[in-house]
Amino acid sequence: MKISLIRGDITEQDVDAVVNAANSSLLGGGGVDGAIHRRGGPEILDDCRKLRASHYGGGLPAGQAVATTAGRLPATWVIHTVGPVYSPSDDRSGQLVSCYRESLRVADELGVESIAFPAVSAGIYGWPMDDAARIAVGTVRSTPSKVRDARFVLFTADAYEAFERAV
Ligand code: ADP
Repeated sequence: MKISLIRGDITEQDVDAVVNAANSSLLGGGGVDGAIHRRGGPEILDDCRKLRASHYGGGLPAGQAVATTAGRLPATWVIHTVGPVYSPSDDRSGQLVSCYRESLRVADELGVESIAFPAVSAGIYGWPMDDAARIAVGTVRSTPSKVRDARFVLFTADAYEAFERAV
């Protein structure tokens, strides 16, 4: 698997799947989630509503991942994963590891060869960027998968530099 870093907007990535840092409601939010729904259009939200009704009445738990169509995005799939909210007193890094592993597992099920990840949990959910970057890079590197092209798409200079240090 080739791992690369890109400074930019994940919604513009021409990949098979983009990963969304969703919240457990799957019904949209701010940050990367808001950007994906705005740019991808209502089809993604329709799919999310159906998933809520069929499988996740209580919401998608942190650390899990599930795919929908990608609407008008260049990608074919959106893989929604719910990062843990950062807590200085409770180690939730296992859940953050699981976000990347589960996203890659879902990607393999779909036959995805190229995937773009945001810095899950490192925005509204408050995870310190350097630690989020180390977990992201370390997990994707060490997870066996058929994905050949994995990109971390970082929105800010801060995030990009943290991921460079992690790589
Ligand atoms: P979380 O709720 O998991 O913390 P956020 O969406 O708030 O998720 O933030 C995760 C990371 O995604 C942050 O570093 C944020 O700057 C970044 N981000 C926001 N919009 C985009 C975008 N369009 N493309 C890529 N990354 C984005």
